[in-house]
Amino acid sequence: MRIYEIIKKKRDREDLTEEEIKYFVESLDTGEIEDYQTTALLMAIYLNGMNSLETSYLTKAMIESGDVVDLSDLPGIKVDKHSTGGVGDTTTLVLAPLVSACGVTVAKMSGRGLGHTGGTLDKLESIPNFRIDLTAEEFKNNVKKIGLAVVGQTKNICPADKKLYALRDVTATVEQNALIASSIMSKKLASGADAIVLDVKTGSGAFMKDLDSSRDLAKEMLSIAEHMGKKVTTVLTDMSQPLGFAIGNTIEVVEAIETLKNKGPKDLTDLCVELASEMVYYGLGGEVKNREEAKSMVIDALESGAALEKFRDMVSAQGGDASVIDDYSILKQPLYTKSVLSEKSGYVGSFMSEEIGLLSVKLGAGREKKGDPVDYSAGILIRHKIGDSVEEGDELAVLYSDKKVAIEEAEKELLGMIEIDKDKPEVKDIVLEVISGSL
Ligand code: URA
Ligand code: CA
Repeated sequence: MRIYEIIKKKRDREDLTEEEIKYFVESLDTGEIEDYQTTALLMAIYLNGMNSLETSYLTKAMIESGDVVDLSDLPGIKVDKHSTGGVGDTTTLVLAPLVSACGVTVAKMSGRGLGHTGGTLDKLESIPNFRIDLTAEEFKNNVKKIGLAVVGQTKNICPADKKLYALRDVTATVEQNALIASSIMSKKLASGADAIVLDVKTGSGAFMKDLDSSRDLAKEMLSIAEHMGKKVTTVLTDMSQPLGFAIGNTIEVVEAIETLKNKGPKDLTDLCVELASEMVYYGLGGEVKNREEAKSMVIDALESGAALEKFRDMVSAQGGDASVIDDYSILKQPLYTKSVLSEKSGYVGSFMSEEIGLLSVKLGAGREKKGDPVDYSAGILIRHKIGDSVEEGDELAVLYSDKKVAIEEAEKELLGMIEIDKDKPEVKDIVLEVISGSL
């Protein structure tokens, strides 16, 4: 087989066979293919697309390029969640204990912040002494003992995807549904899940800015799942404004704990309940009759405090200081805070959410470069959501940072990212659509 012929075929809009796709992905590892050939093929795929069979062959080949986590010795059906990435998305911190409190095994691997989106691992590490680097044995023991663990991703998951993603990132070939879907699904499937709930975000803070392209991506991922024999549900959710009020690390931990105390923001609570219901429905298999029954279990776990107690168990089991739940002052505090006041009266109309995410990174909440340290206390606390009425001089947001200059510059920038309108805008629900697989 020659890589030249494979590139030529895709250039001429022919379908690739499983053997050809497998050969291509294996060549990435053996070094038989040069980067310029890989990127030529990626561009041909970007322009001419792949059918659903080709997409699932690519997914399978990427899974086989690295380690596949075996969770089969853990009890029950393992259900995972993945979000396509948003701003202020604290979901996992609430969802994992919530689902676990309903009796579903949660053995979760999460990531760090990327671009304008924050990462679950950074948030968890802002809890003093919390360990995300459990050994494989500690991970499994914790899951067996308390039914829950959230750790960092195993190093050698889908190395082919890492290589392809790095090349796509610099050759304008990221935004293609077959490539995005196979990239996400390969990593999730290699992480050992039996079933997956995908939170596909849409709007100014998401990868996909409109509902149609989000729906297409969701369908692409469902089709992969079907070919691979896995249960998947996609939940299309609104990301036209930051999720909840907090964007950062310690402030999102506080927001998550408040939500587990059933005193959290409505959008975050609604989203967690919806995603958790899907996960419980899959995870308990035949034990629940339908999604409604799963949902009432979830609401019960939230209202009774059972989910909060699971979070406490997880923090302790992973070495963290669980007294943070009752005393937020244990978390790192910022050197500087600044109140951002509205210059107009009217209604909050829209947010430039991606830019707001990037602004939180500038304040120190994320990394500008790989390996940069994170200032856990840095971030942005917005005070109002779309549709709220505000008067001139009302507090729109509070900025937190250890960097004096950054916080002063951010005030003006943030004002340009929140639109205040004369008329009250339409307010969307957080959950826009649920599309389930046919399995
Ligand atoms: N996230 C991924 O993991 N891969 C993509 O291609 C896009 C987003
Ligand atoms: Ca938030």
